[in-house]
Amino acid sequence: MEFYKLTAHEIADLIQNKQVKAVEIAESFAQRINSVEDKVKSYITITCDIMTEEAKKVDSLIEKGETLPPLAGVPCGVKDNMSTIGVKTTAASKILNNYVPVYDATVVEKLKEAHVPMTGKTNLDEFAMGSSCENSAFFPTHNPWNLDKVPGGSSGGSAACVAADECAFALGSDTGGSIRQPASFCGIVGLKPTYGRVSRYGLLAFASSLDQIGPMTKDVTDAAMVLNLICGKDSMDSTSLDVDTPDFTKALTKDIKGMKIALPKEFFAKGMGEDTREAVLKAVEIYKSLGATVEEVSMPNVEYGLPVYYIIAPAECSSNLGRYDGVKYGHRSDKSVDTFSLYEQSRSEGFGPEVKQRIMIGNYALSAGYYDAYYLKAQQVRTLVKRDFDRIYEKYDVIVAPTSPNTAFGIGEQTDDPYTMKLADVCTIPANLAGIPAISVPCGIGEDSMPIGLQIMGKALDEETVLKAAFAFEQATDFHKLKAKL
Ligand code: GLN
Repeated sequence: MEFYKLTAHEIADLIQNKQVKAVEIAESFAQRINSVEDKVKSYITITCDIMTEEAKKVDSLIEKGETLPPLAGVPCGVKDNMSTIGVKTTAASKILNNYVPVYDATVVEKLKEAHVPMTGKTNLDEFAMGSSCENSAFFPTHNPWNLDKVPGGSSGGSAACVAADECAFALGSDTGGSIRQPASFCGIVGLKPTYGRVSRYGLLAFASSLDQIGPMTKDVTDAAMVLNLICGKDSMDSTSLDVDTPDFTKALTKDIKGMKIALPKEFFAKGMGEDTREAVLKAVEIYKSLGATVEEVSMPNVEYGLPVYYIIAPAECSSNLGRYDGVKYGHRSDKSVDTFSLYEQSRSEGFGPEVKQRIMIGNYALSAGYYDAYYLKAQQVRTLVKRDFDRIYEKYDVIVAPTSPNTAFGIGEQTDDPYTMKLADVCTIPANLAGIPAISVPCGIGEDSMPIGLQIMGKALDEETVLKAAFAFEQATDFHKLKAKL
């Protein structure tokens, strides 16, 4: 049987019911990776040996009669900006080309404790800066639905490997849409949890007031299961929240009668594809037929989300990336003659053009004389964006919008025009600025035969309602069952 085609919860059931050995599952994924990876290029590092070792462990524990956590033996891909002991962690940057961490990210530790075998480390835009995976210093990843198209980004490798069945699920990180936009481009589910819901210890930081780790899965049930596994307070991350962690799968009832849904007109951006607009409006009709009420609303400040983000994110990245100086770890230039040229040369050689541009913009926005005009102003407007959400959530349970204004574009099509690419982050960025949970679920197929994503945003820490709304939609439609043909 082609086990690799199954969802994580279907595989979990087979293993827990002792119908299939975890090793057979691992073999199936190893074969799948072997046969499609050359075309898709999801992974920077493949770890089938580690996957098989863990699967063997699972089988022997099951043989001993032990009860294992729900996702034991279900293979998972990990974005290559999360630290893994003994396995190269590059953030798709030359500056970390040979970096092998000496500690695990908390999410990776949690996967290990749950006996989740790791298929490999997935490709991304360098340091998660980008929307297409083309900013990877190593190679671009291809969209499994059409190999000439981008998989989205920055978690493009994670999205592609789930869509190509090269793992059962993957972890991504989302600073301005990097889980949801690639999920939308690749026809899978991507959940950005509430800021602080999941520990970022061991995540190579991009913009610390925005970064969040989350699940990228084949369906909503898998997203809930993976969130169960990775969420929770962590003493190693002071921004992780000490709050109740419910069993998110309990929220997956189909009953959304009386749910109040807001549809903000500002998310229907200029230049948006007609096919995307139609798919989202059809989704709205489905929600109404399921007993929810949907009302059009206005969120006047969300249009400032984009410029605000492109000040705050570079400002934080310019500070976070200061640590890559060629001294303690990462690339060290052999052309340097003194301390300063060591920093300068190592960083010039190690960082790619997008990262350099952001570091420069960030330093500019933070420098004396410009700080008030740019950084401080951006923080103030961020508060206004957040207040727009607060006001809507006084009356509504969730907000529904497109995930991206358009479907996946061609590889190389927008590389000369980074401005256009950034404009397309308009629908995902507001949730990061407000710190709220947001999910993307498949909701249609565009004129170009590429997937379209529906975004559902909720109140802070109310992932349950977001998942409930997503599940009800998924169960009423068949879009999640459509697969890339490879
Ligand atoms: N596309 C956005 C950017 O380039 C978001 C990236 C992300 O969420 N990591 O900054």
